[in-house]
Amino acid sequence: MPPTKEERREALKAVYQQAKGCTNCPQLAATRTTVVFGNGNADADLMFVGEAPGANEDRQGLPFVGQAGKLLDTLLGEIGLSRPDVFVANVLKCRPPGNRDPHPAEIEACRDYLLRQVELIEPRVICTLGNFATKLLRGDPTGITRLHGRAEVRVIGRRAVRLYPIFHPAAALYTPANVEVLRADFARLPELLALDLPPQPEPALEDPPQPDAGEDEPVARAVREAVGSPAAEERYRPESGREADPDPDAGEPDAEADEREAEADRERELEPAVVQLGLF
Ligand code: URA
Repeated sequence: MPPTKEERREALKAVYQQAKGCTNCPQLAATRTTVVFGNGNADADLMFVGEAPGANEDRQGLPFVGQAGKLLDTLLGEIGLSRPDVFVANVLKCRPPGNRDPHPAEIEACRDYLLRQVELIEPRVICTLGNFATKLLRGDPTGITRLHGRAEVRVIGRRAVRLYPIFHPAAALYTPANVEVLRADFARLPELLALDLPPQPEPALEDPPQPDAGEDEPVARAVREAVGSPAAEERYRPESGREADPDPDAGEPDAEADEREAEADRERELEPAVVQLGLF
């Protein structure tokens, strides 16, 4: 059975929890203020993928909150959409210092986060903003000047989507003539969103069901799937780890109280995710 919308949303939050402690790129981990995971609608039909957070995004922990973000909001408004309708992410989740270009090794190290976002959000259309996102998701070095405004069906991870490369709003800000090009490309988004979902690839073989699966098993499974293989889990485990230290002052174990406390801990942990992700 495919995961429900709620299960995908919970799994996305679990990926966010992993990403926010990520140290895959030691330089970026050392210089960032926050991991900018992306935000918006966790079940969006339309997903935007930019390049990497800038200074404002790094400070606020949210994507596209500076001038480029304002232009993105304006163009979205012109086609009758707003941020809560879409999900916005970046190729890199951390700001490259001095706004330098992402390094190939950083793009590779961050790639799985983006693929998991696509897998869990299940967009129909992915709009790549500029060269970095376009080249990464097409797996091809052809540049945005040649490709912008031309949608094509591509399989991203395990999902077939309509990939739609357009200029990066920041580039359009530098070259005002490009704002009109961007506007014209944006205007085609509603018709792309109205098209049928492209045929999906065969689903990967599922693990056999666990004989003693409990009530929360679907969520647990979705989270496990989001977290991926043990090898990937190893790579993305936050530095701080997950295991709580045993409390030496604890009295007799009380299973119910322990469970309540664990639940409260989980709620506290997830709260920032909801705020940061803006999961509507
Ligand atoms: N540029 C990007 O590519 N992403 C952001 O989040 C902001 C600016």
